[in-house]
Amino acid sequence: MKKRILLLAGGQSGEHEVSLSSARSVLKALPQDVFEVTPLVISKEGRWLESGASRLALEAGHAETGGDLVLSGAQRANDFDVVFPLLHGPMGEDGTVQGLLTLAGLPFVGSGVLGSAVSMDKVMAKSVLAAHGVPQVAYRLVLRGEWRQTPEAVVAQARELGFPLFVKPANLGSSVGISKARSEEELTPALDLAFSLDRRVILEAMTSGKPRELEVGVLGNDAPTASVVGELRFGADFYDYHTKYTEGEATMHIPAPVPRAVSERIRELALTAFKALDCAGLARVDFFYVEATGELYLNEVNTMPGFTTTSMYPKLWEASGLGYAELVTRLVELALEAR
Ligand code: ADP
Ligand code: MG
Ligand code: MG
Repeated sequence: MKKRILLLAGGQSGEHEVSLSSARSVLKALPQDVFEVTPLVISKEGRWLESGASRLALEAGHAETGGDLVLSGAQRANDFDVVFPLLHGPMGEDGTVQGLLTLAGLPFVGSGVLGSAVSMDKVMAKSVLAAHGVPQVAYRLVLRGEWRQTPEAVVAQARELGFPLFVKPANLGSSVGISKARSEEELTPALDLAFSLDRRVILEAMTSGKPRELEVGVLGNDAPTASVVGELRFGADFYDYHTKYTEGEATMHIPAPVPRAVSERIRELALTAFKALDCAGLARVDFFYVEATGELYLNEVNTMPGFTTTSMYPKLWEASGLGYAELVTRLVELALEAR
């Protein structure tokens, strides 16, 4: 019997289109004699499209409207053996969809409710990782109500961290809503922008100078393994949305040209983080490395990283000896494994 896989893609976040291109790659790669894959596209409004409309949306690369309410969509999901929620950002990577699938009794690829939700929230993840001794930049949590009622107290917290600092919505990705505030004057617009997207905002001290950005793939459930380490290089001031999604703005270097001690430490920290956050299946763990000072910080854990054939996560595994189709097959196996 072929395994019937429901591939969820699209979704309500700013990474809707990225998710659809990842899904097209997965659909092509899964061996058809072993798997029967049905794509189900979630529109930007959060509705679940019928199979015909899903295939069309997949080709078009986006779905604005149309489709069923989530609950009737979930009912349809019951006809499948495994769900692959290839969704990025809020309402997909943050535990919401994982909760729905858990309620429906469906096995799915990737982290469960806890691992997804905690990893998605940059502040919550940092608190957990700090308890496990993982090195991170200094940070402060600010709530929208605090910014409205006592802005001077928020500015005081920023001063403690020092400028420049990064201002980020706690629960987004793809650099959406992130600013580098170079001075107190730049802080207000940065906070206004971040609070227009999230109730929770993180202020982060900047590394001493522009860091090198190193990433590693983790694969497995309770006994995960780490891939080789890769590096992203770009000319921009930081890895913003434009740099991430404009062809030719950034290059990938695998394996990253760093001393062996650094890549080994990164792989070890990534596995510690994966376990501490209760991740499952897969995660891409991102680091900052400042060569001049030897600073190495864990930046973030992405529980559903970009997954096109040219994305960092699959490329890291390819360089570690696991090709794209084998990787996807392994993820399905991990989803079906009893934990
Ligand atoms: P996202 O989840 O949207 O990818 P990140 O926290 O990874 O958000 O931040 C996006 C980018 O901003 C990073 O890849 C890096 O280029 C830059 N950046 C973020 N925080 C810092 C920091 N504390 N110091 C230096 N650069 C940072
Ligand atoms: Mg992220
Ligand atoms: Mg990032």
